Amino acid sequence: MRVSELENYIKNIFPWVGPNKLRELVRLVYEIAKREHKLPEEILPPSKNLTFESVKTALLKRRYPLNFKAAHKNQFYLPKLELNDGARADLTPRPFYPRTVYIEESVKDTALVARVRAAFPQADFKQTDGKCQVGSSNFSRRTETLFIHREKYDFLKPCPCSCGSAGCGYNLVNLGFGCRFECEYCFLQQYQNLHAILWPANMDEFLQKLDNGKFNKGPFDRPRIGSGEFTDSLVFDDITQYSQQLVPFFRSRPQWQFEFKTKSTNIQGLLQAGGSENIVVAWSVNSSKIIQETEHFTPDLTSRLLAACEVAKGGYRLGFHFDPVIIYDGYEQDYTRTVQQMADTLPADKIAWISVGTLRFSRELKKQIEMRFPDNFILDGEFLLDFDGKMRYGDQQRIKAYQFLLSLLRKTFPSAYVYLCMEDPAVVRQFRQ
Ligand code: SF4
Repeated sequence: MRVSELENYIKNIFPWVGPNKLRELVRLVYEIAKREHKLPEEILPPSKNLTFESVKTALLKRRYPLNFKAAHKNQFYLPKLELNDGARADLTPRPFYPRTVYIEESVKDTALVARVRAAFPQADFKQTDGKCQVGSSNFSRRTETLFIHREKYDFLKPCPCSCGSAGCGYNLVNLGFGCRFECEYCFLQQYQNLHAILWPANMDEFLQKLDNGKFNKGPFDRPRIGSGEFTDSLVFDDITQYSQQLVPFFRSRPQWQFEFKTKSTNIQGLLQAGGSENIVVAWSVNSSKIIQETEHFTPDLTSRLLAACEVAKGGYRLGFHFDPVIIYDGYEQDYTRTVQQMADTLPADKIAWISVGTLRFSRELKKQIEMRFPDNFILDGEFLLDFDGKMRYGDQQRIKAYQFLLSLLRKTFPSAYVYLCMEDPAVVRQFRQ
């Protein structure tokens, strides 16, 4: 059913309601009908003598059965429903092959540009002074444009842990922007306003800034520095070859730890560079259901774990991020299977850390997910506005998920540091190792 049809249907039942009340009812009926695979008429049958308050209360109870009683009414977020078929993500499998490559004048003679020219000979190469607007108006078409530039300002930053959540002292190197995978929960859908893939060509300046940097170490023995916040650290590494410079740089600086964060199996560069104890290659892992149904174009769990074994043999340590943990019927069995597969496959003594974080998102991201993946099931959970303005499962659901997963991981991998990511400090205190 289209949004306008749903609005008209509800207006017919409540002809007197204003736009705000209409918005709330449309939102609730839509979310319940989607989750229960029913028609709006089955959720809210046409009837006379209904009052807005009683209907809203009944719908809220049905939409939030676990949290209706405990949640404050301001925690239910009921924005206007906006769906747009033109905004759907393009899930047609395709190789990464940009149509247009913009090259900033100042980096035109770099080795990275030479590799890009060799890798994409059919692309349209354009030189730019860096001031023109590049990229598509549509986020789903971001991989059609590649922009190779000289980063001037944004080299390093502390991890933008959301305001008020417990930090882990992470430090970010901003090596590239944009990803060719399509994870339904990815924050870049809402965060990235230049719809292109960006690769900086001045790695030497990044390394210089690193040498002059002052870093937090959080609860770890040494500062942790990593790429992979605004892109996947390895997904493009066969062409960018950032690993070829990062690995020797950090190998000679054992006072720091560097982390590559990835879902890819693009590890040849790492294997060639040779490992080091202070370099951790970390995979995002999940239940097979989440990987298959929501992390489009990414390698499956088995492939990720095999790649992890290879890099461990190559001398790197390993990290894993159960992030985002998504709660659905049967999730505990599915995540237990993932942990079991890890235990059966991986050299446990090589695992440095494992983080866990349940799905959270900003209000704006919720709308993006809904537009780009209208058939998603990840938004069917009970998400409430939380302490930092983000949406999360209610406290009890999160705590239950952490009790289960943290204790399983700590029992299975006793030498790894297992911690929570982007959580309420009060929740983190309950699970401190
Ligand atoms: S791998 Fe990471 S950066 Fe890439 S789409 Fe998935 S969540 Fe986003």
